[in-house]
Amino acid sequence: MKPIPMVDLGAGHERLEPALGEAISAVLRDTRFILGPNVSALEAELAEWLGVRHAIGCASGTDALHLALRAAGIGPGDEVITPPFTFIATAEAIAYVGATPVFVDVDARSFNIDPGRVRAAVTERTRAILPVHLFGQPADMNALQGIADDHDLVLIEDCAQSFGAAIDGRQTGSMSLAGAFSFFPSKNLGACGDGGLITTSDDRLADAILMLRNHGRRVDGYDHEVVGYNSRLDEIQAAILRVKLTHLEAFNAERRQIADAYRQRLGGHDLVQLPHEDGIGRHVYHQFTLLLPEDRRNRVQKSLADRKIASAVYYPVPLHLQPAFADASVRCGSLENSESIARRCLSLPIFPGMREAQIERVCTALLDALK
Ligand SMILES: *Cc1c(COP(=O)(O)O)cnc(C)c1O
Repeated sequence: MKPIPMVDLGAGHERLEPALGEAISAVLRDTRFILGPNVSALEAELAEWLGVRHAIGCASGTDALHLALRAAGIGPGDEVITPPFTFIATAEAIAYVGATPVFVDVDARSFNIDPGRVRAAVTERTRAILPVHLFGQPADMNALQGIADDHDLVLIEDCAQSFGAAIDGRQTGSMSLAGAFSFFPSKNLGACGDGGLITTSDDRLADAILMLRNHGRRVDGYDHEVVGYNSRLDEIQAAILRVKLTHLEAFNAERRQIADAYRQRLGGHDLVQLPHEDGIGRHVYHQFTLLLPEDRRNRVQKSLADRKIASAVYYPVPLHLQPAFADASVRCGSLENSESIARRCLSLPIFPGMREAQIERVCTALLDALK
């Protein structure tokens, strides 16, 4: 039996050949490798696709978060409310600008930050809320925007896992001051290397971000208005992303079909808690993550591995329990949902190009492991 990986990028790329190869060759011939025509074209295409005035490429999703927070004026002494059940980059970006991450628990079913607890966590030092659309499921943006409005807070979305997720037709990344996307290869819109994107419809914020990503200058030259960074999206990656963008809808639809197939096969089992079905908005299943009984999770993962089936624990240690944030963060209230989910979660393989027989093998192995 062939192994089933968490993500098989080859299965998605197969049908993009030879367009990907041609796109790369064209950049090699053109030689405008930094902030060239593909970066500008991609930025325009993505702004349109996402329904925002500005989409600005940068070097990674982590940088997208960092630059958005910095451009929004978040800095030392400020508190930023964020969930502890996410990838560490979310909170790293808060630390980079000198602000303090305030960890607020997630909802037990959606795995996204719980607006009720966010409201209770606001202090006079709170400046921003940074929700994550975890695993491709939109966070409750309407409730969070209400809290931001009431307390005059900046709202910025971590959209690294949610390209194409939407609430009432509004894309994630278009429902706040700024959205931060990642083009890490395994993300829903992935490059063949690192890359990131900041979205905003605020002209002044966009202007600040354009300078920050390119050494604090407005145009090529040697007038530097602020101390910025070298955080540009690579031209070859932009060319690749333009090809992949034309398939993104189909790829997300495929992820949703795979999730449906998992639901049909695994639903109804009393030891399996499926991902939230009646969640907010359109889920794009960056991950398909179930909850299992705490004392079974690791054994189930091992039996899948014995049958050459990959699975993953995203994320085993919530950020408030990470040594990196032991002294550099604030915990607000109980974080027991995050801790419990971390002990119970298991993500199954899901990727465009995954075949029915592979889905069936994963489900059979999982159900056998629970016998
Ligand atoms: C991947 C990811 C990031 C960081 O993106 P990079 O492009 O790898 O820097 C940030 N937040 C979340 C939730 C992510 O999944």
